[in-house]
Amino acid sequence: MVASLRIYQIAVPTPLYRAFDYLAPVALTPGARVRVPFGRRELVGVVMGEVTQSELPANRLKNITQPLDDSAIFPPSVLSLLQWAADYYHHPLGEVVHTALPVYLRQGRAPVASGVKLWSLTPAGKAVDPQTLKRAPAQKQVLEALATDGEGLDAEQLAKVSQRSAAALKALRAKGWVSSHQRETRPVISGDLQTAPELNPDQKSAVAGILAGLGGFRPFLLHGVTGSGKTEVYLGVIEQVLAQGKQALVLVPEISLTPQLVGRFARRFRAPIALLHSGLNEQERLSAWVRASAGRASIVLGTRSAVFTPLMHPGLIVVDEEHDASYKQQDGFRYSARDVAVMRAAREKIPVILGSATPSLESLKNARQGAYTLIELPERTGTAVMPQVRLLDMRRLKPSEGLSLPLREALAARLEKGEQSILFLNRRGFSPVWMCFDCGWVAPCKRCDAQLTLHNRKQKLLCHHCGAEQEVVKVCPSCQGVNLHPLGEGTERVEGALEKFFPRARIERIDRDSTARRGALEEKLRRVHAGEADILVGTQMLSKGHDFPNVTLVGILNADQGLYGTDFRSGERLFQLIMQVSGRAGRADKPGEVLIQTWHPEHPLFAALQRHDFHGFAEFALNERRETGYPPYTHLALLRAEAPAPGAALEFLRAARALAVQLSPGKDVQLLSPAPAPMERRAGRYRAQLLVQSGQRAPLHEFLAQWVRQLTEAKFARKTRWSLDVDPVDMY
Ligand code: ADP
Ligand code: ZN
Ligand code: ZN
Repeated sequence: MVASLRIYQIAVPTPLYRAFDYLAPVALTPGARVRVPFGRRELVGVVMGEVTQSELPANRLKNITQPLDDSAIFPPSVLSLLQWAADYYHHPLGEVVHTALPVYLRQGRAPVASGVKLWSLTPAGKAVDPQTLKRAPAQKQVLEALATDGEGLDAEQLAKVSQRSAAALKALRAKGWVSSHQRETRPVISGDLQTAPELNPDQKSAVAGILAGLGGFRPFLLHGVTGSGKTEVYLGVIEQVLAQGKQALVLVPEISLTPQLVGRFARRFRAPIALLHSGLNEQERLSAWVRASAGRASIVLGTRSAVFTPLMHPGLIVVDEEHDASYKQQDGFRYSARDVAVMRAAREKIPVILGSATPSLESLKNARQGAYTLIELPERTGTAVMPQVRLLDMRRLKPSEGLSLPLREALAARLEKGEQSILFLNRRGFSPVWMCFDCGWVAPCKRCDAQLTLHNRKQKLLCHHCGAEQEVVKVCPSCQGVNLHPLGEGTERVEGALEKFFPRARIERIDRDSTARRGALEEKLRRVHAGEADILVGTQMLSKGHDFPNVTLVGILNADQGLYGTDFRSGERLFQLIMQVSGRAGRADKPGEVLIQTWHPEHPLFAALQRHDFHGFAEFALNERRETGYPPYTHLALLRAEAPAPGAALEFLRAARALAVQLSPGKDVQLLSPAPAPMERRAGRYRAQLLVQSGQRAPLHEFLAQWVRQLTEAKFARKTRWSLDVDPVDMY
C-alpha cells in the first residue's frame, strides 16, 4: 500500500528555509495548492515538485489533508522564479510563495473572480428631470452621476457622490429608475478611443528594436529624457503584443501612478486591464489575479508584488521608472521587483523593458556591458524642449518661510500668465524641528534617535520614523522657558506661506498627510489637470511620472538635503529626484524653468543637472563607485539586527561575524565590522548592521546560503530579531 503513495515537496508558510515532504494518495500537480497538517495547525501550501525519496523516514512522513486545486495556479515559469527568489534572497520558500499569492488564495479559497455590481439608469430613470428631486438631494446627486456615466457605477464610486448613496439607491430602485447588473470588472474609463500619435524617428526605432526581440528573452534599457515619449514606446510595443494574443505585464513604482497609466491604456486599447496594487480590497485583488492568470486580462498593471502574477500568455514585461527605490521591498522578503522582472522574463522567454529618464547605475552598467540593449530617446517630443535650470545661491538670498525672492517672483509671473507651478520639498509637516529659542532644546522622539516634526493643522508633534504622536510642548522641559518655535520648513508651512504671499492662488498640497484619505490624491490630481490649481507644493510624490502639461515652473526648495548624505547612493538619488521633478516642467508647448535653491551652487551634481547631462553624471558616479568598491562594481548583502536592549544587536552581529569567519568564505567575500545603523534607535529598538561585500555573486551567495542556515539554528541568534538584505538599496 505504502508504495502507491507519492512524496511531494510542499512550500508551507513558515520561517524555515526549506520545503517539506508530504505523502499524497493522489497525483499532485506542481504549482497547485494543498492543505497540509503542520504541527498542531493546518496550513495552505504549494506543491513544488515530486521527489522519489525523503530525508525523513517513511513512518514520519504525513499525508496531505486535501488538494485544493485541480490544476496548477502557478505555471512552471513562476514556480521556478519563486524558487530562484527564495534562493537568491535567502528567504524562506514558503513565505516567498505566500507573498506571490492574494490573501484569499493563501487562505485556501477558490481562484475565481467575482464581479462587481454596477448601477445604471433604467429608461424610466433616464427620462427623469433631476430638478424634480430637489427635496431629495442624495437621490438627485446619484441620478445625476449615473446620467453622466453610460456603463454604470459601483457602490464605492457612488459613495463618493453622496454620503447617503445607499439609501438613495434603494429609493431610486423602488421607483424603478435604477437597476443593477454584474460585470467582471469595473469599467476603467468611458470615452472615445484615441489613436496613437505619429511616433518620432527615435520612438519608431525604439519600438522596432524592441519588437525585433519579441518571442525571446531580451532585456532593454529604455533611457529617455523626461517627456521623450517612453510611454508611447511601451504602448507601441504593447499594441503588437496584444495583436499576437499575448499579455503585457506593466510595473509602476507607485499606486498613485496607476490611474494615469490606466487611463492611457484604456483610451488606446479596448483590451481588458487588470490592476494590482495595495489600494485594492482582497476581493478585487483576487479577481485581478485570476483574470491575469486565466489570460482574460491582456494588460496587467501593478506595483511591486504584481511581478509574480501568473500570466496565461506572457508576451512582454515593462518596468516603468526602473530606478525607483520602491521596487525594493524594505522588510520581510526583501526582493527587488525590477530584478525579479528580469529573471522572470528570462524564464518566460520574453522581452523586458526597463524604462527611465534616470536609469539606476546598476542597469546602466548592465547596458554598457551589453547584458541589456540600450535604447535612447534623447529629446522631448514635438516642440517641447528641456527646461532651463537656474541655481539660486542661498548664501546671498534671504528666504522668507523657505522661499527666496527670485522664486516668489517667478511664481508671481506664472500666476499672472495662468500657468501652473510645482514646489518640491522632501519634507512633510510644518517644521522638522520644534525648538526652545532660549536654551536650544529640541523636541526628541522618546523611542527614536530623531527629532519630532511639528504638524500645525493637527497641532501635534509627530515622529516620522515610528509614528509616535504627542501634544505640542509649550513649556521647555529643559529651562522651563516658553519661547518655543518651529525651525525649518515642511510642506505644510510652505503651503501656508504661499497662501500669505499669493492670497488669490489656488494651492494644492500633495504629500502623505494630505492624500491619506482614499481617493484624495486622485481628486487633487484631477483638479491639477482640470486647471483648478495654480501652485502644487509637495514631496517626492510629485516627482513620479505625472504629466502636467500646463506646469512651466518647478522650484526645488531644499536641494542640499542629500548632497552630503551618508548613504553611498545619496548623490544618485538626489540627481534622479531633481531630474525627475524638473521633468515636470514645460512638457507641452510652453517652455519650462527650474529654480534650485542651494547653499552649494558649485557642486558638480548641479552642473550636470543644468546641462541635463545624465551620462556625464553617471560617468562621474560610476567612477566613484569603482574607486570606493560599491555597487554596481561589487555586490552587497546587509545583515541587520535589532533588539530592545542597547548593545544586543551589535553583540549578535559580532557572534554572526565570528561564525562567518569559521565558514572561511574565501578572499573575495569581505565582512565589514558590525556597526550601529545610521539611526541607531528606532521605535524603541537598537539597530545595527554588518555589511558583506563581494566582487562576484557566486561566492557571495554560496557563503550567504551556509551562513543564513547556521544563523537560523544558532542559539545566540534566538534573542535577536535579524534579517538578511541582499542587494540593499536603503542602508538605513
Ligand atoms: P515619458 O513617458 O517619456 O515621460 P510620455 O510618453 O508620457 O513621455 O510623453 C510625453 C507627452 O508627449 C505625452 O503627453 C504624450 O502624449 C506626448 N507624446 C509622446 N509621443 C508623442 C508623439 N510621437 N507625438 C506627439 N505627442 C507625443
Ligand atoms: Zn529651553
Ligand atoms: Zn520615533
